[in-house]
Amino acid sequence: MRVILLGPPGSGKGTQADLIENKYHFPKVSTGDLLRRAIEEKTELGQKAEAIMKKGELVSDEIVEELVRMRIHEADCQKGYILDGFPRNIAQAQSLESMEGERQEVVFELLLSFDEITRRLSSRRICPRCMAIYNLQNQRPKVDEFCDHCGTKLILREDDSHSVIENRLRVYEQKTKILRDYYLAKGVYHGVDGARSVRTIFDDICAILEQKLSRVISRES
Ligand code: AMP
Repeated sequence: MRVILLGPPGSGKGTQADLIENKYHFPKVSTGDLLRRAIEEKTELGQKAEAIMKKGELVSDEIVEELVRMRIHEADCQKGYILDGFPRNIAQAQSLESMEGERQEVVFELLLSFDEITRRLSSRRICPRCMAIYNLQNQRPKVDEFCDHCGTKLILREDDSHSVIENRLRVYEQKTKILRDYYLAKGVYHGVDGARSVRTIFDDICAILEQKLSRVISRES
């Protein structure tokens, strides 16, 4: 099973991916997290990506495709995985299909207005160590400003500043939104109203996933 989460930055893909990972034990593969880690570790790839990410532009397809290719071939992804932030354009979607043989696929797009996204992104905080996600409005940490899991001081992502948010949303409109039609044509697309509570959205996602998974099980038995 390959679960793909689409949606503009700040629509809650990372949070839903974490919940799906916890419940179904498919690992979350977030290209944003992989890139931020590479930057923190000052790898060559991280150095190439850093300036582009700061501007809210897309990193080159080759870089992200290589990251994803390596990650999804690790043993824990054999049964399935959740993609958060990948693919972000048609070329990446096609490249993903060429990375491995047939795999059942389900795509969720979190649908949200741009006003709501801008409001959410400016109150988002992340843990720079374990990448946990918080929101000062509706997902506050237990102790103000510190990560519940590892106690690290939370930060505002550099690309969550107002001017960069606008650019990231523009990039989404121009390059990524078209994936909706791509996956609709494949018959695997599900639009989900992302303006509701995290739990309600997750319940909708689970209902669809359970259906798909039961089909996989009945096919295998
Ligand atoms: P995210 O955490 O998914 O919002 O990603 C943060 C930034 O990482 C994006 O604004 C891009 O600069 C870069 N990035 C993440 N995923 C991709 C991707 N699939 N293709 C190109 N750039 C990406």
